[in-house]
Amino acid sequence: MEDPKIYIIGAGLSGLVAAIELEKAGFSPVILEAGSDIGGRVKTDVSNEFRMDHGFQVLLTAYPETKHYLDYNALDLKMFSPGAVIFGEQESYIIDDPIRNPLKIVSMAFSKVGSFLDKVKMFSLTQELKKKSDEDIFNAPSIPTAQYLRDYGFSDQIISNFFVPFFRGIFLEPNLNTSSRMFEFVFKMFSIGNAAVPAKGMGEIPKMLRKQLSNTKIFFNSPVKEVQGGAIHMQNGETYLADRVIIATQPDKVMPQLQGQFAPAQRVTNLYFSTQKSFMARPMIGLIPGEGHLVNNIVFMDDVSPEYCLGDRSLLSVTVLKHDLSEKDLIKAVQQELERVSRIKGEYFRHEKTYEIEYALPALDDVKYSIPRTEAKIVDHVYLAGDYLLNGSINASMTSGRIAAEAVIGSLMPTH
Ligand SMILES: Cc1cc2nc3c(=O)[nH]c(=O)nc-3n(C[C@H](O)[C@H](O)[C@H](O)COP(=O)(O)OP(=O)(O)OC[C@H]3O[C@@H](n4cnc5c(N)ncnc54)[C@H](O)[C@@H]3O)c2cc1C
Repeated sequence: MEDPKIYIIGAGLSGLVAAIELEKAGFSPVILEAGSDIGGRVKTDVSNEFRMDHGFQVLLTAYPETKHYLDYNALDLKMFSPGAVIFGEQESYIIDDPIRNPLKIVSMAFSKVGSFLDKVKMFSLTQELKKKSDEDIFNAPSIPTAQYLRDYGFSDQIISNFFVPFFRGIFLEPNLNTSSRMFEFVFKMFSIGNAAVPAKGMGEIPKMLRKQLSNTKIFFNSPVKEVQGGAIHMQNGETYLADRVIIATQPDKVMPQLQGQFAPAQRVTNLYFSTQKSFMARPMIGLIPGEGHLVNNIVFMDDVSPEYCLGDRSLLSVTVLKHDLSEKDLIKAVQQELERVSRIKGEYFRHEKTYEIEYALPALDDVKYSIPRTEAKIVDHVYLAGDYLLNGSINASMTSGRIAAEAVIGSLMPTH
């Protein structure tokens, strides 16, 4: 087929990676994006004073797929210190590097989060997972993470003081029902690499993908209403005829016959506050264990990368997993909780912005590392990409974009 018309729906990470791969094979795809910018769930708003990511998220430098598309040096990645500051009921304390170097933590310090046996188990889990391939991790039986941790023999103390708040902030669900496969994968990523953000915010990631495109047209503010085979019906009434379509967003949005067949979403609320200066003063995540409070984790973004702050105030990112408050009441309640953990008066936390993210991660029962190319095709002419196919991560979204593009390329160039 000469110069086939290939459309990609969505300019998130999966859609951008699909376009990169299609260009490499000599094609010139068109991306139809409902919003006014690239990035999908990975965006950074820049104001006069701050860079604010849409939801607190990090790039794990050990991710296998992202390395193919991102130049970490050019992103000027700023690393988090491994470990966490734990804000307990009575006191706060730092637990340095519990995943990579648990045996190095002084017993006195570790005893605040767990027992000596926990320390040894942490070490053996790290060693086991370092030896396990990513494919084997995702082929293992899947049980809820909470059960996996109990079965592994971790104490209730370390589960509630460390694992629950740490992984709640990653899985964005309170009960650690997420598959043990995802737990093992993320734990392994933390044990062999770092958590990082680009110096100028997570939005630099899609920007770097876009820079790799030269023959792709992107149409913004172009929401697709429905895909019927090769016919793409736009919200504005226009129709495009495509030889191939890659749907790089939840497909049930544009194929009504698929409604109810894809994973529901984990939602999350991310609030930003500014303060005169950071009360943590280290590039670490702050965890608030226990139940009955709103805030799960906090990070002073300028402790990690000073470029998040363009003025002279510090920027605190606060993650709330679940609430049913109005924005005004939520801000007040969060300020009170911040006062409790920092002993700084709540009113000194100046609210900057709230992001209510309805679709943050797909709530998948069956997480996967990869799928065969044949599974990317859903009906004739139509292929799927997006994290919901594999697992909710930057790594998976890029993998899914690559696989969809490879499937399209294979259908157009059978010898490929
Ligand atoms: C708060 C939060 C925290 C996270 N934390 C992490 C983390 O720490 N580490 C990690 O690895 N991952 C994290 N993730 C997950 C990661 O961001 C996603 O897995 C990834 O960005 C998904 O990319 P995608 O291309 O699959 O989908 P999306 O980013 O959702 O892209 C879909 C695109 O399609 C567009 N679109 C939708 N409908 C239409 C339509 N009808 N017509 C045209 N365009 C349409 C959308 O506007 C969007 O641009 C987090 C996500 C969130 C939200």
